[in-house]
Amino acid sequence: MEFIDLKAQYECIHADVTRRIVDVMKSGHFILSDEVDLFEKKIAKYVGRKYAVACGNGTEALQLIYMAYGLGSGDAVFCPDMTFIASIEPAVMLGVHPVFCDIDLRNYNLDPVCLETKIEEVLREGKYMPKAIIAVDFLGHPFDVVKISDIAQKYGLILIEDAAQGIGAQFGSKKCGSFGDISATSFFPTKPLGCYGDGGAVFTDNEEIYGILKSLRVHGKGKNKYDNIRIGMNSRLDSIQAAVLLSKLQVFDEEIEKRQNIAKRYDEALGKYLKIPSVCTGCKSSYAQYVVMASDIERREQLVQILKENEIPTIYYYPTPMHRLPVFRYLNTADEDYQNTLQYSNTAFGIPFSPYLANEDQKKVIDVMVHTLERCG
Ligand SMILES: *Cc1c(COP(=O)(O)O)cnc(C)c1O
Repeated sequence: MEFIDLKAQYECIHADVTRRIVDVMKSGHFILSDEVDLFEKKIAKYVGRKYAVACGNGTEALQLIYMAYGLGSGDAVFCPDMTFIASIEPAVMLGVHPVFCDIDLRNYNLDPVCLETKIEEVLREGKYMPKAIIAVDFLGHPFDVVKISDIAQKYGLILIEDAAQGIGAQFGSKKCGSFGDISATSFFPTKPLGCYGDGGAVFTDNEEIYGILKSLRVHGKGKNKYDNIRIGMNSRLDSIQAAVLLSKLQVFDEEIEKRQNIAKRYDEALGKYLKIPSVCTGCKSSYAQYVVMASDIERREQLVQILKENEIPTIYYYPTPMHRLPVFRYLNTADEDYQNTLQYSNTAFGIPFSPYLANEDQKKVIDVMVHTLERCG
């Protein structure tokens, strides 16, 4: 059984996607071509932003954002303690001081109360200037847009949305990728909208920032790429990846609906034994991962072991909170009390999930889990 079944997806789209890839090869234009322009227009419209800037991957999308807003040494950026390091890594590379905030155990996203406490702490200490919040749509669940936006406004902070896992999800009628001042996403193959290699994009409504981003992704170009007016990067999307994404975008809404149905089946079967994903009223998750929480660490090990014996893959997503990562030892946060991220990282695990998860495979996962949980309580 596949953890995320990309082969089944390819079976569904192969005629269209192959034709589009062949067309790119015939055109001889491989980077930032008409395909990329068209994809940028379509994906911007899809998420509900004025502009999209396609780039090399999700990490570089975030780096382009941190660079466009001129973040660097002396600045503090607030980041959820449970996320992928790429949310904050490019900021740290630019000299930013990262501040980790505990998560809310309802949606595993940035906890507004902890966020505000941390901002106040940094202000009191006076060593770093609070500049931005990076809010993540963790596992595909939108972050608490209303409360986090209010806090950003109250303290005059830039709100950046890391929608790498959130494309396709919604908060009310608005789509993930459209929140905060600016947002980033990733098209890594296993993300909800993935290509056949690396890819990413930045979304903004701000025309000036849009211009800066387009310059930054091509070596800080001015009038042309040999008229360099700032230090930038080489971060562009290939035409072949844009062709793949244009093809996948056609079936994306259908896939998001399939994800809802599969999640519902898991919810109904597992909800009485385990903590299942909770989606806030008026929200829709993209279920980038379907993650459950066991009652304690031993129970998790037992379940994962039995699933493994039945050839069912699982994942710890993610095993280590940011404040405990070796790379952040210099912050001296390892012994701090991040109760919720610790509980999450000790007891949560992901089970096979994709829009193409076969009925019989899902039934097998459910049967093995329910059998184990009934037997062991
Ligand atoms: C995947 C991911 C990224 C980075 O995307 P890449 O395309 O792999 O560079 C950033 N943030 C989060 C939350 C992610 O899941």
